[in-house]
Amino acid sequence: MRFARTACLAAVAGIGATALTVVGIAAPAQAAVVDAGQACLTPDTNEAAAAARGGGSGLDHRGISAAEQRAITRQTNNQLAAKGVTAASGATALVARKVPVYVHVMRDRAGRGNVTNRQVARQVAVLNRDFSGLGYRFDLVRIDRFKNTAWHKDRRSGHYRAVTRKGGARALNIWLVDFAYLGIATFPWDYARRGAVDGIRVQYNSLPGGNIPHYSEGRTATHETGHWLGLFHTFQGGCTSLNDQVDDTPAQASPTSGCPAGRDSCPLDGTDPIHNYMDYSWDSCYSEFTQGQAARAHKMWTAYRA
Ligand SMILES: [Zn+2]
Repeated sequence: MRFARTACLAAVAGIGATALTVVGIAAPAQAAVVDAGQACLTPDTNEAAAAARGGGSGLDHRGISAAEQRAITRQTNNQLAAKGVTAASGATALVARKVPVYVHVMRDRAGRGNVTNRQVARQVAVLNRDFSGLGYRFDLVRIDRFKNTAWHKDRRSGHYRAVTRKGGARALNIWLVDFAYLGIATFPWDYARRGAVDGIRVQYNSLPGGNIPHYSEGRTATHETGHWLGLFHTFQGGCTSLNDQVDDTPAQASPTSGCPAGRDSCPLDGTDPIHNYMDYSWDSCYSEFTQGQAARAHKMWTAYRA
């Protein structure tokens, strides 16, 4: 089985969540219905997959329209104004950004899908390392383990998340499952309406010590946590000036696959930010969030999670 961080977004009624695809096959997305989240499935062993991973297939970034992006920005600015912060000062954040972490290990009835406490600790350490420059600290509060084959396969995810989720808006819930994605996240602006399912779902084998070639250094959780903090993909909207609404991440036409130095998929300024955690590169290729992303995340934190 090969895994790839392939793309796709499928927004439903303006509700954002975002997914990283993994594996082959899988019928298109129940998840999109259950979750109103996203579905993006790409067969991994054929030409179509190759195109989808690197060549900018139409599937890759049609999820959230530019109009929806602008609506989210307006909503966020209104939210900040209601809290007495300007959009500009929101970026400097008024609160300590400590994030309690709840990990839910969704094993099947035979015990498959388990991870060790040490793997979880290493995963949280990866989050702390990757987000340290942004001022976030992740503290593992507890690990809950379940044995439920449906939940392990991410079926009835709206239900299992609602009954297992812990903490408030600041709490990062990580559900470790075995599904057709590397990961799926909810966005902060959806918390008010859908807080019961807020958090990230992550392929359990993507944790450090897992066995997915190129994707077992724990960076899927980093990427998904980036969405959870309000960051879009660096290829959001494709090769447009709006793009991911972050000025210092060059616009990108399509997701990156692997770690192709010098890739430049968009004639606008700059080469593709292939090392950015919000692209789709290999775990080993990831190394950065930008200052612009930090500012956006802080603004979102202040608006929706503080
Ligand atoms: Zn993503």
